[in-house]
Amino acid sequence: MFDNLSEKLGGILDRLTRRGALTEADVDAAMREVRRALLEADVSLDVVRSFTERVREQAIGATVVKSVTPGQMVVKIVHDELVATLGSDGQSIDLHAVPPVAIMMVGLQGSGKTTTTAKLARRMVQRDKRKVLMASLDIYRPAAMEQLAVLGRDLDIPTLPIVDGQKPAQIAKRALEAGKLGGYDVVLLDTAGRTTLDEEMMSEAAEIKATANPHEVLLVADSLTGQDAVNLARAFDQRVGLTGIALTRVDGDGRGGAALSMRAVTGKPIKLMGTGEKTDALEDFHPSRIAGRILG
Ligand code: GDP
Repeated sequence: MFDNLSEKLGGILDRLTRRGALTEADVDAAMREVRRALLEADVSLDVVRSFTERVREQAIGATVVKSVTPGQMVVKIVHDELVATLGSDGQSIDLHAVPPVAIMMVGLQGSGKTTTTAKLARRMVQRDKRKVLMASLDIYRPAAMEQLAVLGRDLDIPTLPIVDGQKPAQIAKRALEAGKLGGYDVVLLDTAGRTTLDEEMMSEAAEIKATANPHEVLLVADSLTGQDAVNLARAFDQRVGLTGIALTRVDGDGRGGAALSMRAVTGKPIKLMGTGEKTDALEDFHPSRIAGRILG
């Protein structure tokens, strides 16, 4: 996903490191190029502005102290600022609560919500040795409920039995009761998405949240949608309240803008990234690793 940006930044910084000394004009010229590269990668304008300004200030300070290798100093500054922008304190899913811990998944239809629910369940069962129950709250698309049931059967992870006629919040309540009775550690709630951001989806999510009192509310967002994913995160956070973001299709040819802007724009951490269609293609989001990947 970051190949293009990585290539561009690499070229710009490589030219800097090959210079013996750096003037303020050199730094300014490089920052103009960095700015263009980030904008082309679809990073939010405000994020680009503050990023290049912070790098510029530190880089100019660095040249004043006549560092032996000013170019390398700038590369280090760019790296550290990338890590800070991505959310320096990389965070993972928090399961520290009285079981069953409810985790609610929200997002648009097709963003990868059901797949990510199954991926997360699989990881918590296999890696973390937790007892996990999955429940689909998508009463509008029986196929979506069935999709989760099929994934559950494949992974040998239980799903809440489907009962017709219940509202999403009632299903959430039933899931938590089943979770309590069955001695589950975690209950994953896969909510219904719609094709566009609408008030109905938001108010339904808010109602489910009020009923289930989830420990985590994760927005599943498609990284290929760039700025739309960032706007979606902001809207969901304001209306429903998020604890984190799961960015999907990071294996695709997205330009990286969503990953780079999400944290700065919403203040909420990217906790997970989906790197493929299979249920094992899920990784924690490590800001320093991503920054390393961007800088090659
Ligand atoms: P939902 O409508 O939000 O529940 O979306 P689904 O979970 O049904 O996913 C829609 C499609 O995206 C499916 O074909 C998934 O296999 C695919 N998908 C989900 N996450 C990823 C990912 O991280 N990478 C790739 N390449 N495909 C994904």
